[in-house]
Amino acid sequence: MTEAAISIRELAKTYKGGKRALDGVTFDVPRGQIFGLLGPNGAGKSTLINILSGMVMKTSGTASIWGFDIDERPRNAKASIGIVPQEIVFDPFFTPYETLELFAGLYGVPKPQRKSMELLRAVHLEDKANAYSRTLSGGMKRRLLVAKAMVHSPPVLVLDEPTAGVDIELRQQLWAYVRELNAQGVTVVLTTHYLEEAEELCDRIAIINHGRLIANEPTRELVNKAQEKLVQVTVDRDLDSPPAAPCFEKIVLKGERVLEITYSKAKVNAGEVLAAVSGAGLGIVDVSTKEADLEDVFLSLTRAA
Ligand code: ADP
Ligand code: MG
Repeated sequence: MTEAAISIRELAKTYKGGKRALDGVTFDVPRGQIFGLLGPNGAGKSTLINILSGMVMKTSGTASIWGFDIDERPRNAKASIGIVPQEIVFDPFFTPYETLELFAGLYGVPKPQRKSMELLRAVHLEDKANAYSRTLSGGMKRRLLVAKAMVHSPPVLVLDEPTAGVDIELRQQLWAYVRELNAQGVTVVLTTHYLEEAEELCDRIAIINHGRLIANEPTRELVNKAQEKLVQVTVDRDLDSPPAAPCFEKIVLKGERVLEITYSKAKVNAGEVLAAVSGAGLGIVDVSTKEADLEDVFLSLTRAA
């Protein structure tokens, strides 16, 4: 089947009080991928995920999961997705094993098909199977939430900011498990506000900012755009027009003696860029550089759009 794992069309959400958290978002998550939904805090990521899980009512637009429209086929849509929420919500009175059995029951998984112990092993919680949930550390609780999202073996797993407040070792374990699930055929969607994290893990990245989708492309292509760097060079004489060189992606005359040059870190280094300025017969008086961070990527992408 070529149908998308998740398909979202013109999805919009305005919260009571008037905050427009999603403003007509359209994209597909291809089956079989690890897909990153990237954006700064407040961009609308959790709103989108919570619409998919049925926790937030959309204002308009459509969404389907594994081909099932969330309005027309809510049960099938729900059965097709496992969601690890951003907020840790917990019932302290059950053990991890009981929690998984309980949720498998809620999803109608027959006893012989349940795999609670297998899931606990996968998230390294087998020795906590019978401990009370309230005795688990924050990291353990998060791992249990991942296991809980998988009790009904959904084809799609969504993790909303899974590494917020999680230490490096646990993060690596979590990623190893996510990769393993993906290798078994599970489509994975994760939201994060770290470009590096998305870069390390995802086949494809969509970026959302102020409730709007501003990019959706293979990770490599997106990262190349994030390789843009800016250097400001003050030269020793007045200019009428900026010099040209192949290593400049863009050059703008900011003042009579100030050049703002954009170059690609992937292709050249600052030394070559400065050498090109000298090569144009200009003396360099001052230099300042700026690393392209996620904000700059947003800016250059929104500029390009
Ligand atoms: P993200 O997950 O990308 O950080 P959210 O989807 O949580 O973003 O939030 C998007 C915007 O919607 C933010 O401005 C946030 O303050 C607002 N928002 C989120 N939840 C609610 C709510 N229940 N009521 C009103 N506004 C909300
Ligand atoms: Mg969020």
